[in-house]
Amino acid sequence: MNIIKVVKNIFRNLKFTLGNIPKKAITISYPEERKNLPDRLRIGTFGLTSNKETGEENCIACKLCERICPSNIIDIEIEKRDGRGFAKKFFLDLQSCIQCELCVQICPVDAIIMMKVPASPVTLRSDLYLTKTKMMNNAKKYEESWAKGSILQKSFKPAPKEVKENA
Ligand code: SF4
Ligand code: SF4
Repeated sequence: MNIIKVVKNIFRNLKFTLGNIPKKAITISYPEERKNLPDRLRIGTFGLTSNKETGEENCIACKLCERICPSNIIDIEIEKRDGRGFAKKFFLDLQSCIQCELCVQICPVDAIIMMKVPASPVTLRSDLYLTKTKMMNNAKKYEESWAKGSILQKSFKPAPKEVKENA
């Protein structure tokens, strides 16, 4: 081995290391310190919302989210009363979720939403089964993420004809 090359490499690496000492650390002491999560981050768990004034569940059990889910992990049981649908049971298996957000995007009443909090580590698979109660609690407990059906549907709306023609 060429000794000059080895010494050169040692000095080059030392220079790099010493050059970084005065720089401000970019790491943080997690979990005591936490970075602000980007608004559009998709790593969260899910919530089911209620009307803020009446407390009534927003989900009308239309099953659109169940049908669109590419992982086929949503299961809803419908109950009809008071002239509307309710989710008698709502089940989402978070362990197979690919965080595509399609369920959120398609919801016509902003009922299913993502929460701006990473899913907590768990020890049992069953802890990743989100039931209606868990999701309703999540919606109360955690901050809502940026994405909601009404916002996503507006942002993905096709451009008006005149805009397309002038493009
Ligand atoms: S975000 Fe998860 S639950 Fe929602 S449609 Fe995608 S895979 Fe299904
Ligand atoms: S969460 Fe939304 S899309 Fe899914 S069943 Fe309820 S109302 Fe329909």
